[in-house]
Amino acid sequence: VDPINHLNLDVPLANKTYPELQPLLENMNYHNKIRKEFSANVSHELKTPLTSISGYAEIMANNLQGDNTQGFSQKIVDESKQLLRIIEDIIKLSKLDEGNVQLDFETINYQEVIQNVLRNLEDYAAKAKVSLIDETLPVKGLAVRQIIYEIIYNLIQNAIKYNYENGHVWISVRDYPRYIEIIVKDDGIGIHDKDKERVFERFYRSDKSHSKQIEGTGLGLAIVKHGVDFHNGTIEVFDYLNHGTKFVIKINK
Ligand code: ADP
Repeated sequence: VDPINHLNLDVPLANKTYPELQPLLENMNYHNKIRKEFSANVSHELKTPLTSISGYAEIMANNLQGDNTQGFSQKIVDESKQLLRIIEDIIKLSKLDEGNVQLDFETINYQEVIQNVLRNLEDYAAKAKVSLIDETLPVKGLAVRQIIYEIIYNLIQNAIKYNYENGHVWISVRDYPRYIEIIVKDDGIGIHDKDKERVFERFYRSDKSHSKQIEGTGLGLAIVKHGVDFHNGTIEVFDYLNHGTKFVIKINK
């Protein structure tokens, strides 16, 4: 049973009798706050596309679309896809939250997992005219294969998505005595300093991605962060080559 899930979210937690419990309780308050914000955001993020869908559908149901049937149906298709993306991402996050994914730690070959991701993103990269450069070595470590796959998939997909035509994505994995280091870097549009701390928040998307109309949910990096935390690791984001982005993950051994 997850104790945080079973707390009354409206009662601020404090404990004067047992001061040693205070940091723990503050941590719980913090988690409660995040949970509340998340629920509020979920409703908003689901409502936005659904409002458009029902709006366009209603116009068409009343035959008021004039000669714009194609455009209106396309809007409904696009917004439905967005809704599905959000729901799929929320399911992934809540599975990690509840810990009920198949969480079997096993010895995995990171290079194999990464090459699998690269194969599955090959067509997407070709369409975006972005080159994927595999600099991995065969590195083995104890991890949950499905989560590592998800982490790397999201990072490489972003590196392609937030890139220019003829851009590049480099991926490497290296074995150090205390940790395994995974680096995904790109020479794409980059992340502003003010956004760097916030990109891991659920539903956070930088102005750049909104203004460039790049599709997304703002949940990809939250899933990544969650997966890294699950492996007792760290993730940091840096600038790369003045205009691109570099993500560095360290998974402790
Ligand atoms: P999404 O891509 O669905 O918007 P993410 O959580 O994966 O959501 O990413 C959050 C935000 O971080 C993105 O909206 C984008 O602004 C920024 N971002 C993530 N990866 C990159 C990258 N490789 N280069 C530039 N910006 C990025």
